[in-house]
Parts: sequence; C-alpha cells; structure tokens
Amino acid sequence: MSTTTVLLISFLYLLTLFLVAHYAERQSINGRSIINNPYVYTLSLGVYCTAWTYFGSVGRASTTGLGFLPIYLGPTLVAPFFVLVLRKMILISKSQRITSVADFISSRYGKSTSLGILATLVAIIGVIPYISIQLKAIGIAYDILIVDDDFWVDWADQSSFYCDKVLLITIVLAIFATLYGSRKLDPNERHEGLVASVAFESIIKLVAFLAVGIYVTWSIYDGIEDVFTLSTQNERLRQLFDLEMAGINGTSWTWLILLSMSAILFLPRQFHMAVVENTNQKFVQQAAWLFPFYLFLICIFVIPIAFGGILHFPSGEVEADSFVLSLPMAHGQSTLAIIVFIGGLSAATSMVIVSVIALSIMISNNLILPFLLKSSVVKDNFIADVSKRLLGIRRVSMVIVLLLAYGYLKSIAINYTLVSIGLISFAAIAQFAPIILGGLYWKRGTRKGAIAALGIGFTIWFFTLPFPTLIESGLLSKTILSEGLFGIHALKPYALFGLEGFDQISHAAFWSLFFNTFTYVLISLNTVPSQIEITQADLFVDIYKYGNTIGDYDVVKRAAKTKDIKKLLNRFLGESRANVLINKYEQKHHLDLSTAQTATADLVNYTEKHLSGALGAASAKVVISSIVKEDPISLEEMFKVLDQTQEVMEYSKALEKKSNELEATTIQLKAANEQLKELDQLKDNFIATVTHELRTPITSMKAFSKILLDNPALDKAQQQEFLSIIVSESDRIGRLINQVLDLRKLDAVNLDDQKSPLDLSELIGVACQSLGQMAADKEVELIFPKEKVPIYIFGNRDKIIQVWINLVGNALKFVPPQSGCIRVSIEVDKSFAVIRVQDNGIGIAPKDQATIFDRFTQVNNPNLGKPQGSGLGLFITKKIVEQHQGTIEVESEPGIGAAFIVRLPLVADREPQVIYYKPNKI
Ligand code: ADP
Repeated sequence: MSTTTVLLISFLYLLTLFLVAHYAERQSINGRSIINNPYVYTLSLGVYCTAWTYFGSVGRASTTGLGFLPIYLGPTLVAPFFVLVLRKMILISKSQRITSVADFISSRYGKSTSLGILATLVAIIGVIPYISIQLKAIGIAYDILIVDDDFWVDWADQSSFYCDKVLLITIVLAIFATLYGSRKLDPNERHEGLVASVAFESIIKLVAFLAVGIYVTWSIYDGIEDVFTLSTQNERLRQLFDLEMAGINGTSWTWLILLSMSAILFLPRQFHMAVVENTNQKFVQQAAWLFPFYLFLICIFVIPIAFGGILHFPSGEVEADSFVLSLPMAHGQSTLAIIVFIGGLSAATSMVIVSVIALSIMISNNLILPFLLKSSVVKDNFIADVSKRLLGIRRVSMVIVLLLAYGYLKSIAINYTLVSIGLISFAAIAQFAPIILGGLYWKRGTRKGAIAALGIGFTIWFFTLPFPTLIESGLLSKTILSEGLFGIHALKPYALFGLEGFDQISHAAFWSLFFNTFTYVLISLNTVPSQIEITQADLFVDIYKYGNTIGDYDVVKRAAKTKDIKKLLNRFLGESRANVLINKYEQKHHLDLSTAQTATADLVNYTEKHLSGALGAASAKVVISSIVKEDPISLEEMFKVLDQTQEVMEYSKALEKKSNELEATTIQLKAANEQLKELDQLKDNFIATVTHELRTPITSMKAFSKILLDNPALDKAQQQEFLSIIVSESDRIGRLINQVLDLRKLDAVNLDDQKSPLDLSELIGVACQSLGQMAADKEVELIFPKEKVPIYIFGNRDKIIQVWINLVGNALKFVPPQSGCIRVSIEVDKSFAVIRVQDNGIGIAPKDQATIFDRFTQVNNPNLGKPQGSGLGLFITKKIVEQHQGTIEVESEPGIGAAFIVRLPLVADREPQVIYYKPNKI
C-alpha cells in the first residue's frame, strides 16, 4: 500500500473519532448522555488494552506461550474487588473533587504539595516509556503496510526525525489530545467526548482483533485444532508447551499478576477513566464482571495467532510483535490488514490520548501550579486570568509529554520489545500501591511515611530497571552490571543485595515494593500526623460513614472576606460558573452573600472543594490560604469537633440500625408490658393473701376479745384459753408482718458481715425441735439426724434456721395427720452439704414446681382449697440459700410426697482467711 493511502486512512479514522466525541458532547449538552451506562463505562476501562496488547501479546505468546496471560489475569483477579476498592476510590474522589491519581495521593496525605509533585514525577517518568511504545507500535504497523516508501524516512533510524511519519502521527495525536482534553476547564475533569471515543475505540480494537483471529484460525488454518496439531509437530512451538522451557515460573507469574493488579487501578489513564470520568459509582458492580469478559474476548485468539505466525514464518524473518498484520498481508488480504491496522491504531491512540490528558492534569495542578503560586509576584499576575492560563499549561504539557515519549522512543525504546518496556511502566506505577491502599484502609499512614515510601520505591525501581537500560545503551560503564555500583557487590542492578534467580521485572518489583511498604509502615508509625492529615485520613478511610457530610469537620477554623472568595471563584472557574456556585450556596443556606462581609469556614470549605476540581487539592489549598486567615482550633473546639464527628457517626450508625432497633423496641415494650401485667397480678395476689391472712386472726382476736369484754364473769380457765388464742393469733400476724418486712430487706441487706462457721446438723436440730410440738399435735413422724457429726458451713445462723423452719413447716402443712412422715437428712457431696427435706404429703404437680419459688405463689388444691400461708416462704428460702452460694430444688410426685433438696458449700471450700499485719515502724 502507498504511504498516502495509509496516512489518509489514519486521518480519516481519527476524524471519525473526533466526530464520535463531538456527537457525545452534543448529546450530553442536550441532556441525553450516551456514556451514562455501565457498558460504556466498562468499554472505557478497555483503555487498558493498548497497542502492547494488540501487537505485543502475540509477540510474547510466541516466545513464552501462556506467558502473555498474567497481564490479563491480574485485572481479572482484581475485578471482583472493584466494588470494595474502586468504589471507595470513586466515592472519595467525588466528594473531594480529586482529578488525578497524584491528586488522590496528595489529598489523602494532608493535601501535601510535595507528595503531589513526587507522585506526578513518578507518573510522568513511569508512563512516558509506555506512551513511547504505542508510537513504536504505530511505526511497526506502518512499516508492514507501506511497501513503497521514498519520501518518508525510516522512523527507526535514530539519527533522523525530519519527515518521520511517527513524528507526524505524534504531532497529530498532540493536536487531538489538546482538542479533547483541554477545550474548557471542567471543574470535575469530566470529558464525555473522550469517554465516548475511548469506548468506541475499545469496540473497534476488539472487533478487529477477533476478525484477524478468526481469519488466521479458520481461513489460513483449519480451526483451532488444526493450529494446535500443526504446532505439536513444530520443534520451536513444542518448547512453548513446556512451561519451564517457555520461561514461565511461579515467581514471575506472581509478580506479573501483582503488577497488573495495581496497573488496572493506579495507572494514570486507568484512574482517569475508572475514577475521574465515572458518572455513577453503581456501574462498578457491572464492570466487575463485564470487564474480565472483555479481557477474555481480547485474549482468546492470542495463542492461535502467535502459533499460526510461527508456523507461517518459521525462519523468524518477521517480528512476532507484528504477526497480526503480517499474516493477512502475506495472504494478500489488504482489507483485513487495514481493519487490523485501524484496530491497532485505536488501541494506541486511546491509550496515548487518555494518558496524556491524565498526565497533563497532574502536571498543571500538582507540578506547575504549586510553583507558580509560591512566588507572590507570579501569583498576582498569574491569577489575573487563570483559567485561560491553566488551559495553556495543560496544552503545553500535553505536547511536551508526547515529545518526550517520542524522544524516548528514538533513543531507547527502539531497542526493546513492546512488552518489556510496558512492564517497566507497570513496575513504576506499582509504587503507588502501598500508599494508596494504605491510605484507603489505614488511618495511621502519614505524609512523611508516604513521601519516604514513594521516594525509596521509585529510586529502587529506577536503579533496577531503567538504569540498566542506560548502561546497556552505552551511556554508562558496563562494569556496574557485573561489579555493582561503585564496585559494591550488593548494588548490582540485576542482583540487588545478592538476590539472584529472579527475572528482571520480578527482581525490581520485589525489592522496590518491599522497601516501599516497609518504609511506609515504619516511618508512618514513627511520625506524628498534622491536623489536616488526620482529617484527611479520616475522610478517606471512613468515607462510607461520612456520606454527604464531608468537609464539615475541618480542624482549622478558617475565615475570609466574602469578596475575596468571589474573586477567587471568578478567576479560577470563570464568572458564569462562579455565579452558579454562589447562587447554589446562597439557596442552600438561605443567605445573601452580597451583604455578608466575612465568609464562614463552611463557605471557605465549599470554595476550596470546588477549586480543587480545577486546580487539584494541593493547589486549591495554596490558593485558598492566600485569602484566608487560619486559626488553629483550640483544644476545646477540637474536642467539640471530635464529639460532633462521633455524634454524626453514631447518628448514622443509629439510622442504619433504626429498623432493627424499632423491632427490638417493640419486643422490649411487649416484654415490659408482660412484666407489668405479671407485677400487677403479683400485687393482686399479695393484697389478697395479706388481707386474708390478716383478717382471719384479727377476726378471731376480735371475737375472743369481745367475749372477754362482754363477760367479765368468765371463769379463769376460759379467760386463760381465750387470751392465749389472742396471743397466738397476734403472733401469727406478727410473723406475717415480719415475712413481708423480711422480703423487703432480703435484697438490700448484705449478709456477708453476719456470717460465721455453723454446724448444720445442730441448726437442723434446733429447727426441728421448735416444730416438734406441731408434729406431735398432728401425730406426724419427724425424723432428723440426732447424732452430732459436725458439718460446717459458713453462714448466718438465724437465716439458716429459718430455711429449715420454712421447709419442715411446709411439709408439716401438707402431710396427712397420723400417717404423715417427714425426714430430714444430711449428706456430704464433695465440697457441698446436701440437705433433703422429704415428706409423704400431697406433693406438687410438675407444672407448679417451677413457680412455687416465686413470690406469692401458692398452689390451690381442689380438695384443700387455698393453703395457709403467704406464699412467701419458699421465695424467702430460696433467696437465703442463694445468699449462701447454695441451690434449692424440688422433686415431687403428686399424691406421694415432695422433697426439697438444698446444697450449701462446706466451710472447707472457703478460701482460708489470711490476715496480714503491717509491722509498725519503730
Ligand atoms: P407459704 O409461705 O404460704 O407456705 P411457700 O412459698 O412456702 O408459701 O409455698 C408455696 C406453695 O408451695 C404452697 O402454697 C404449696 O402449695 C406448695 N408447697 C410448699 N411446700 C410443699 C410441700 N412440702 N408439699 C406440697 N406442697 C408444697
């Protein structure tokens, strides 16, 4: 094909892209965004697949077989975690108006200018080689397509760049990038047109790659099986089936997967597409499976094309990187070749344009602006018409980045394969991983820690990867490779600290990330973060808790003049946008800012947030600080802020649990209600019992007193009898009153002070003897241990006697007269005394056994009616036993009898009491 045809096609294609972008922006102005859906979002992430994928994967597959895979496995493995990590990054970036990965890092660590500069430098140095290989890929593609070439010089000729078509393409791309990325200063750095065209390019490159795959597999060969059968007969290909021979090992796979995991999230262009250009964080969910699917599609034909290429060009005269193009060309399929070429061009241009835009945002916001703002003279002049100037800076930096990439291509990348240079970039960007991931999940990470970590990681990366390429290209002495830097053996670039047996990329990734992470943790733990770092760390790590309240909790009280605020907004965002923002603020807070002299801290924060979108966090901070008076907050206010934060967090937590709690409250209310009912019932029982118990003796006392009063002539013996009844009845009342009083005291009194070692068998004897008369009256047998084998417990004498009186007394009530029998026995079981009070009375039904120990419960017997007593006896008994660390239970078979079993700890079980005497000083 002729040069003119190919160049013409290229320009037509780029024009199409531009039309797509234009259409998308038109639609978005009319409110019909075509990018606001998960599919376009996923396709825009496809900017990951560059010309390196397009040409390089096949190249790598033809030397290492499956060795091309880790680059796609990494993102596939990360994708399920998109919802965690990527979504968090998006939420933070939206609320903090973050515009680039460098801005993200600077923002997290206290909006640090120096960290922003460092991160930007790492990104530029890391990504420029990557851009250069896209240019290289375009160059290779031209060489294959264009046969007769007399006007254009060989682009690979290092000495010439005049009339170099790659330079021409570079310039066209530069124009494109400036048109796309810096037409206006968008405060959110959103570019609908860019996203639409990148998504469009993702489709084109996929379709083109599938087309060539299908052509090679089914047209040149006879299907996948055929390719593989032929491959097994080829000596060179047979080696690729052997993973060892193909140079695949666990270490390098692991590191490549790790590097590409970080690349998919932190490469400036990925961050730009996935985070900055994201229109809805919910898309992340679909992208989590759609994106791996896209990668899968773009990978399926890599091996067939690679193997087909080797079979077709067995002598190796054609570079494997170019099989996708050479195969159709060799078969005279020029239309397919053009399609493939356009696919490759898509892959390269989307990567170049997005990367250049992402880098230019960093360069202007994080690198140049901070310097300009430093000098007040420059600042005053500069601020005069800043938004135009910022666009100018953007454009210039885009051109510079592209020219640097071109320069790198001409001087270094020419000698390396696409993949090896791409991986060098991956390793550079991986240096962001520890401080970003740490920043997302670890509040303790500090600015100093991050600067040191990024610094050391990047230095080691440079020493182990790009530095040796400088040596190999003859710029430095080769002895450094064999002897180490300054002759120190530990400092060999390919075997740092004596680590050998790793491939170069794994070796570099291992050491740089090891020192990076180690330094980050070590220095963070040993440095004290500033106030703003603490706030930012909190906002990042706890983004989910803050929700929409972000920015309201600054630890520095800031105030400024309202007119300065307006001036700033006007200058940086343009008058119309500034007015919109001011109006919005006035409406939201019901304020009239034209009358307010001083701007509140809240308005200052609002301004800063919106300036961040245009200038980056660090520069916005600098700009704001020029008009703002800052009062560090006092300790008390600080506490107030902390309290507020705490409150808000608790409030949101409370909201989260609101429904649960409501449910719990209902249950609690129900339970309380039940309890109230129960108490009410108890109260009724109590009143009924007590009044009944009081009325009976009082009635009889009244009756007998009346007889005595009315009949003074009653004989002595009768008088005596009546008086003794009155006394015993009043005793009964006394007992009842005592019981009620006991009940009240039970919980309040601590028995511990009134305890002493007691001989159980003696106390049981005392109780039984006091009830002996009653037993005799009822002609009931009462058996209790009479021999004194002392069994000691530790307790309150009166209370323990009361226990036995209650139990034996109850038994007496319920045994039948004449044939009744009550037996009290004591046994020792390990460290407990077990006392059994057994009777042959009416017994207790199983359903009542659980309740008889409750207050005021008495079992109504159908034959006997309501028993005598208050229903308090067993309740009090149980309390006393428990106050002695004992237990009481009942065993009974109705009609046969009941047994109450009490277990009390023996005295030996108590800790020996040791009293220490402090010797008096003489
Ligand atoms: P009171 O103080 O009225 O005797 P208690 O709390 O001691 O009340 O007993 C509660 C109920 O337990 C009694 O009314 C009775 O129904 C039942 N009860 C207690 N001891 C026995 C027993 N030995 N045999 C049968 N029923 C018993």
